[in-house]
Amino acid sequence: MAKIAKVEVKRDICIGATPCVVAAPAAMELDAENKAVYKLKDGVRSSGPVDRAQLEDPSVDDDTLLIAAQSCPVKAIFLYDETGKQVYPEA
Ligand code: SF4
Repeated sequence: MAKIAKVEVKRDICIGATPCVVAAPAAMELDAENKAVYKLKDGVRSSGPVDRAQLEDPSVDDDTLLIAAQSCPVKAIFLYDETGKQVYPEA
C-alpha cells in the first residue's frame, strides 16, 4: 500500500462508534460531538483532512492508521497518499 500522507474523518459519516479510537489511541479520540478527531501537535484536534506529519505522536505508523480506518464500521475514515490519491477506502 502507498504511504499515507493525509488523513480524514468524514464527520457526516462518523457515528462515534469508537473502534478507530481503540485501534489508534495515540492518534485519535472523540470530540464533544462524538465525532472522531486526529490528535495533532500543539493540542490541536481536527477531523481533517490533515497532513499525517501534523500528528502529535510521530511514532504512529501507517499500519496503525490503516487498521483504525479499516475498523470503522461505516467507513468514515479516508486515507490519501502524497499525490492526493485516495488509498482507503479503495475506490
Ligand atoms: S470508528 Fe468510524 S464511526 Fe466510529 S468514531 Fe471512528 S470514524 Fe467515527
